[in-house]
Amino acid sequence: MNKNSSNTMALAPNTSNKKETVCIFGTGDFGRALGHKMIQSGYPVVYGSRSTQISNLIPKDAEVLGHAEAAQKAAIIIIAIQRQHYNFLTPLAEILRGKVLVDISNNLKLNQYPDSNAEHLAQLLPGSKVVKAFNTVSAWALQSGTLDASRQVFVCGDDVEAKQMVMNIVRALGLTPLDKGSLLAAQEIENYPLQLFPMWKFPIFLSLGLTAFFFLYCVALDIIYTYIYEKNNFSFFIAITIPNRVCPVMALILLALVYLPGVFAAIIQLYRGTKYRRFPDWLDKWMLCRKQLGLIALAFASLHVVFTLVTPLRAFASWRTGKGIISQALNNKTEPLDHTTAWLSDSYLALGILGFFLFVLLGITSLPSVSNNVNWREFRFVQSKLGYLALILCTAHTLVYGGKWFLSPSAYKWYLPNIYILSLIVPCAVLVVKFVLIFPCVDKPLTQIRQGWERNPKYSK
Ligand code: NAP
Repeated sequence: MNKNSSNTMALAPNTSNKKETVCIFGTGDFGRALGHKMIQSGYPVVYGSRSTQISNLIPKDAEVLGHAEAAQKAAIIIIAIQRQHYNFLTPLAEILRGKVLVDISNNLKLNQYPDSNAEHLAQLLPGSKVVKAFNTVSAWALQSGTLDASRQVFVCGDDVEAKQMVMNIVRALGLTPLDKGSLLAAQEIENYPLQLFPMWKFPIFLSLGLTAFFFLYCVALDIIYTYIYEKNNFSFFIAITIPNRVCPVMALILLALVYLPGVFAAIIQLYRGTKYRRFPDWLDKWMLCRKQLGLIALAFASLHVVFTLVTPLRAFASWRTGKGIISQALNNKTEPLDHTTAWLSDSYLALGILGFFLFVLLGITSLPSVSNNVNWREFRFVQSKLGYLALILCTAHTLVYGGKWFLSPSAYKWYLPNIYILSLIVPCAVLVVKFVLIFPCVDKPLTQIRQGWERNPKYSK
């Protein structure tokens, strides 16, 4: 072949780029938005509709025909119609035989029907190849082009070739297909858009419950007790003082609860001598929501920082400082600097600042855009090693702050401990057990178990 002829071939228009016609049943919101996007991506689109009248809402360049006529023009038919109307497809079974039907439908409620919409469609039209796709993308996002947050399109189906054809369309639209396997996965994919922050439910309810408990605990000890026994009205503590006591306590407890399931898992594996038995359900669920617990803990820690920074601006703080100065003036005596208190207060602040810095680092590395850019070892280093360091620093911060009160009887109003003491129970327990777990005599068998060794291999059967 001569040089010229190869150049001519390179410059010749690439006819293989011509895209196949796609048929869309239904000229509703989603059908129109998807059709518009497909035309933009170079696909000829033909609509199958109950009415063949062209309205100005339908993308120009698209054809509108009756269902049977439209279906004959394409190998792929997107069913942009609600499940309850699928029965109208049964008389079209012969025309739809061998064609790829893309089910994009969603339901109004989780598990609304015993079978998924896609499986229902496959049952109605056994001669067609049903693929589930596009249901997690909204018509609004398709139309407005704001697909940045939802580029992933879950795809599933029993026919591999049909699934590939749909995935090629997904890619051509600038989206990312994610193969979820056979049509059995359709129910899960259909439930996906109906879920409301499923991983956040437990952490949010737990945080709300603990916050309410600690808030009322502080109201009882700092306001009601003081009012009854000291005749002081400190009800204004509700606005800043008490939230600034509850927030650090919540941050520390929730951070410890991020690491507690890992400690339980290690104890269970050591006890069973194998990693091949499932953890109890509650532990599995707890492990899955550690990131959410950590992020809520970070939110509480950030609030604590803000509340602390505004403390000098408060009328109560200036009144207390003024009172101290005036009492020294009246006694004509300047109190000497207490070096122990100065050390404690500076150490308390330094530990808090370092702990908060690591806390923020943990939060940032848990964001998908950041965690996708670090490898598994780096991620584990930050989340596990630096995470434990953050827990140690924050626990030390609380110990240095509250330590001086632990032995003082005045800290036990109504024989109840101060909330700083309560907040230290879980973190100290986690740190002590973790300390035991890193001893070589415990760490070695645990590492072996995690690498697949079994004390009693019958458990793996
Ligand atoms: P829609 O605006 O109500 O459109 C549905 C279309 O179905 C109608 O325009 C109509 O098209 C057709 N239709 C209605 N009744 C029919 C019947 N008895 N027989 C035959 N065809 C009938 O709904 P949509 O928002 O486009 O949603 C369509 C499907 O996409 C639903 O299953 C939905 O779950 C799914 N979906 C929607 C979105 C979204 O953001 N809207 C996102 C993901 C998935 P003709 O008048 O042309 O016949």
